[in-house]
Amino acid sequence: AGGLQSKSSVSYQDHPSGKDMCSNCAHFVPGASPSADGTCKVVAGKISPHGYCFAYTPIS
Ligand code: SF4
Repeated sequence: AGGLQSKSSVSYQDHPSGKDMCSNCAHFVPGASPSADGTCKVVAGKISPHGYCFAYTPIS
């Protein structure tokens, strides 16, 4: 989709970086349940709640 970055361009990984992970990132859009894959406002594709990338932005 237009405007979204690829996973490789932000070095997405399917596991957390310490306690930093998609489920506590401001860009994450949750899936149907807390453990389900969701999406991301800035990175294309299915996103694990336990993933992480260089665009990580912690929820305050
Ligand atoms: Fe996960 Fe990165 Fe999207 Fe944040 S910006 S939800 S860390 S993929």
